[in-house]
Amino acid sequence: MKRGVLIVLSGPSGVGKGTVRKALFEEPDIDFQYSISMTTRQPRTGEVDGEDYFFVTREQFEDAIKHNEVLEYAQYVGNYYGTPKAYIEKTLAAGKDVLLEIDVQGALQVKEKMPEGAYIFLTPPNLRSLKTRLIGRGTENLDVINRRVQTAASEIRMMKNYDYAVVNDEVAAAVDRIKDIIKIERLRVERV
Ligand code: 5GP
Repeated sequence: MKRGVLIVLSGPSGVGKGTVRKALFEEPDIDFQYSISMTTRQPRTGEVDGEDYFFVTREQFEDAIKHNEVLEYAQYVGNYYGTPKAYIEKTLAAGKDVLLEIDVQGALQVKEKMPEGAYIFLTPPNLRSLKTRLIGRGTENLDVINRRVQTAASEIRMMKNYDYAVVNDEVAAAVDRIKDIIKIERLRVERV
């Protein structure tokens, strides 16, 4: 059986990866799976354990690292974030496509291990719009926001390591571009 396609949606924090990913999954013709990440950060209002993330303690996360259960992980603004390995392996082996939505450090680790994936960098139209978006979201204080914007500026320089770049100027347009990329990636593995 042919393996599924791995799609990695990445880019700086605050660029709107989560919003774009959710909009993508609301499209009627989307038939790939979403890999739910683990994190040690506290749930935000409205976030559901096992849907948005698996919320775990630092001890549980470090245990998972020790037992080689994470495909990649990153520490981001004081918290761990990582991709559980077993789900990805199982889903791709069953011929289903999987989407990861992860930060830049994590995407580069996955690329080392699975270079055959499709790596998409979502970029803000400019850094000011990124800061405005983070302030508007109202979930972090200004110190954290400034650290996120600084991180974003250096991450944007990693864009050349990706297969595709998509500017998130408007969510619907970004979703359309990503759907095209997925079509292109499926063509690469299509057998007739
Ligand atoms: P947030 O705290 O805003 O939910 O996420 C912070 C950052 O961590 C975002 O850039 C998000 O994409 C990233 N992230 C979420 N899950 C993972 C993961 O499993 N691995 C890595 N490396 N980053 C993740």
